[in-house]
Amino acid sequence: MAGGANSMPRMRPGCFPLLLVLLCGIGLAFGTGGCSSTGGLGKGGGLGGRGTLARNAATLGIHVDLIPEGRYGRHLKRPMRPRFITVHATETYGASANAATMARALRNGNLTATHNLLGYLTWHFSVDQGSVYQSLPLNERGEHADYEGQGNKESIGIEMCENRGNSIPATVDRTAKLCAVLMAEYGIPLQNVVPHYHWVQIRPRTGKNLGHKSCPHFLLDNGKPGAKWQGFLRKVDHYSKKLKLTGRV
Ligand SMILES: [Zn+2]
Repeated sequence: MAGGANSMPRMRPGCFPLLLVLLCGIGLAFGTGGCSSTGGLGKGGGLGGRGTLARNAATLGIHVDLIPEGRYGRHLKRPMRPRFITVHATETYGASANAATMARALRNGNLTATHNLLGYLTWHFSVDQGSVYQSLPLNERGEHADYEGQGNKESIGIEMCENRGNSIPATVDRTAKLCAVLMAEYGIPLQNVVPHYHWVQIRPRTGKNLGHKSCPHFLLDNGKPGAKWQGFLRKVDHYSKKLKLTGRV
């Protein structure tokens, strides 16, 4: 879709088929949010809730780097109470398209969208092999799954990075830990941890039904949840049990 200079991530239509994505002027400096275990945003904010997230933020490598309130992908006020976690893969393969870069693109309003009502793509967390970047407060809905459907209205969106050189197994492992922590934080059951595929995409203006998306592609079998997705859920369950026993992932 976008592409361009070598230093820019290349968004493919796979995960975001409907969106005109423009990635411009994305630098590589490590995020400005800094690794934070407190966030200071209160319950439902950057970090907070029941404390599980804050307690595990350093282990997860969470950087809070929010889209500015009232601007770009947060220009509409859209509260959310999370009941699901939706897992995606970026399908963006440029070497620079790590979690910090994805977060910066969100923060700078570079991910515009033509078919949703917001006009931007947004999600809550970007994950790579070594870090997690948070772009939205967890009490605000994103625009990553199914337009005006339940996936956007009630789920925390996690994008797994696929930039060249990034370890997918390490990214999946970090994502599983993040899911376990979010489940504990918000009382979300394992069956509500779903792949993007779970949601049906219906464009709000035209009613066009785009069906299910094959996302996150590397955790699906023949484009659908199968053995690989079940393996991922087992990993999440493992960290969930560890968390219950020790308070830590
Ligand atoms: Zn997706």
